[in-house]
Amino acid sequence: MRATKASQHTVIVAVTKRLSTDKDEPSILPLIKAGFNKRVVENHNLNACINELLCLEYGEVRTQLQLSAANALFCALDNVSDAVEIASDDREIQYVNHAWERLMGYGSEEVMEKDSMEVTKNDHNKPDLQDSINTQLKKGKYWEGTYYTRRKNGEILPSHCHVSPVIGPTGQISHIISVKTTSDASLIERLKDTDYSIVNGGVYGFPRRRESVTKIHSMTIEAPITKVINIINAAQENSPITVVQALDHVLEILRTSELYSPYLSQQLRADEDPMTTDLVGGIMSQSMRRQLMVSASQDVNSNSSKGSHQPHTYIPTNPATLSQIPDHIKAILNSEPSWDFDIIRLEKATNNRPLVYLGLKTLMRFGVCDFFNINETCLTNWLTVIESNYHSSNTYHNSTHAADVLHATAFFLEQERNKAVLDQSDVVCSLISAIIHDVDHPGRTNAFLINEGNKLAILYNDQAVLESHHSALAFQLSWENDSANIFRGLDNEGYRATRQNIIDMVLATEMRHHFEHLNKFVNSVNKATLKYEDTSSMSGNGSPDSSVVLNQLTTPENRLLIKRMLIKCADVANPCRPLDLCVEWGKRIAEEYFNQTEEEKKRGLPVVMPIFDRKTCSIPKSQISFIDVFINDMFDAWDYYCDVPDLITHLQNNYKYWQQADDNSQDCEEASSPTDGDKT
Ligand code: AMP
Ligand code: ZN
Repeated sequence: MRATKASQHTVIVAVTKRLSTDKDEPSILPLIKAGFNKRVVENHNLNACINELLCLEYGEVRTQLQLSAANALFCALDNVSDAVEIASDDREIQYVNHAWERLMGYGSEEVMEKDSMEVTKNDHNKPDLQDSINTQLKKGKYWEGTYYTRRKNGEILPSHCHVSPVIGPTGQISHIISVKTTSDASLIERLKDTDYSIVNGGVYGFPRRRESVTKIHSMTIEAPITKVINIINAAQENSPITVVQALDHVLEILRTSELYSPYLSQQLRADEDPMTTDLVGGIMSQSMRRQLMVSASQDVNSNSSKGSHQPHTYIPTNPATLSQIPDHIKAILNSEPSWDFDIIRLEKATNNRPLVYLGLKTLMRFGVCDFFNINETCLTNWLTVIESNYHSSNTYHNSTHAADVLHATAFFLEQERNKAVLDQSDVVCSLISAIIHDVDHPGRTNAFLINEGNKLAILYNDQAVLESHHSALAFQLSWENDSANIFRGLDNEGYRATRQNIIDMVLATEMRHHFEHLNKFVNSVNKATLKYEDTSSMSGNGSPDSSVVLNQLTTPENRLLIKRMLIKCADVANPCRPLDLCVEWGKRIAEEYFNQTEEEKKRGLPVVMPIFDRKTCSIPKSQISFIDVFINDMFDAWDYYCDVPDLITHLQNNYKYWQQADDNSQDCEEASSPTDGDKT
């Protein structure tokens, strides 16, 4: 046997002695263990032996041939991009290929012997769809059309589906085969990338944390938008006329270029919540309640012109270095790495100059001097110039706000995910951007400046007026004074890249594009994060797989989105601070808005946020609206990306506090308003 050339279809037969009838038949087990496939009792009749060999050829050998062919078929099925499912005649799943696993989000072992209809059940399909499919199958024909299917994570996908029966030897249906393709061929690719664990045979499932993950999926808005339009077009094909009409309306909305802001404003106006409408209008709009251009008869220099005040270049010398910081301030700064750091205490202790002190401490900790190749004195000079160009008369947009944003930025940069993804130039640019991001803020909104025809609005064509000014002024101040120029040591290329990075981050703080930034982040970064987590939980950090996914997070495009989101979150992190700080910031921003409304009324300007009237405004309501509209989704996405659970806990507690405060003030109003009985 050893000398015989092996074949993959070899059958090894044990020819055993015929036993006399009074002897027991020996057990077959030892023969099987020895490697025999078949036992034949010796026979001297030639024909009987030939018959035995024929039986072998048509039995064992042919079965083996068929089996290996079937294996090859299954292997082929696993390599096609269409999702294939084979079920019994009563729809019990017997086989699914890899593409099916990727499309549906299940591992095959999870769905074996389950009812195929139950696994994908959802109410997006027409109620009589299943009957139509069954009727076709019973006739021995196939059914083809659009079929909505539900993934394991609840996501509903439209797919093009081909269902066909397999007729068995008895003439009855033995199996039902369904082949699904997504309406958009690239969607399969997307899913293949996203559900990485399935490709590797791991058990599918989102690794952790609350509803935010499901939310991340439901928030998906595909880019480019044409893909969405194609999917909707495909879904329209087999839909009833009412659905087709509704989808036409959806397409109309999607085809507009401003996908977020105008729609949101209309929606809010329809909801008739004046607080939210005012807040969104005030924060996001250019000049929502614009009436006549006031500046027509106005000298651009005669307006409130806080934005046009003369920049300060004066450089005080104290403290020149970290070691010169007085002990009582050093003591406060010691808790700077904690999220609960008390910036208001630092504001008091430094006599409204928290930015220089916190800036010095933080920037030294992150090696900013080394990056710029400058000494501590230059850094302190620069911080001093920048801080002196913040308006201490503003209740909110003063240097304490800048220091607060710097603190949040530094905290975010310390999170493991950001440490893995961002490089030193990203880190330095983030810190610098946080420091300068509101410099020379006049304590008035963009809409106000546009409405009053402020010279900054004229200069920047009503586009991102303040943000453009903050960034431009910061570079101007830096270059004006050599001893305060942190950029002077950079070579041309280094300066170009740093400047570009900083400008991009400061401009990202413009709330007008809030939803655009958030959606891009969710679609690109959160999706990549999902993959990163699945991979690292499967194979451990540092495996080739996790570095592949990490490479995706660290692409220049994704790093840009991450940095924008980082500074945006830092900029409005005050609702996620400990309660006393959160309340303080809520009061400060409201006070600044009240002052704006008063000035608008006094000067006959359009009132951008009428609800922010000192006499009538409810601060708790303003905070509830702000959190609902801008904060919740953004911090869910941010938390999902870089894991900041303490912030979410504070946010939830603070929200409850504002709700309670709102309830209490309503009770007070009811108690103080005269009843009918009183009137009489
Ligand atoms: P910035 O002007 O760069 O600070 O952009 C953030 C904007 O968010 C501010 O201008 C405020 O309009 C708004 N904002 C921040 N915190 C709050 C808050 N607690 N309540 C209401 N609006 C806020
Ligand atoms: Zn800010």
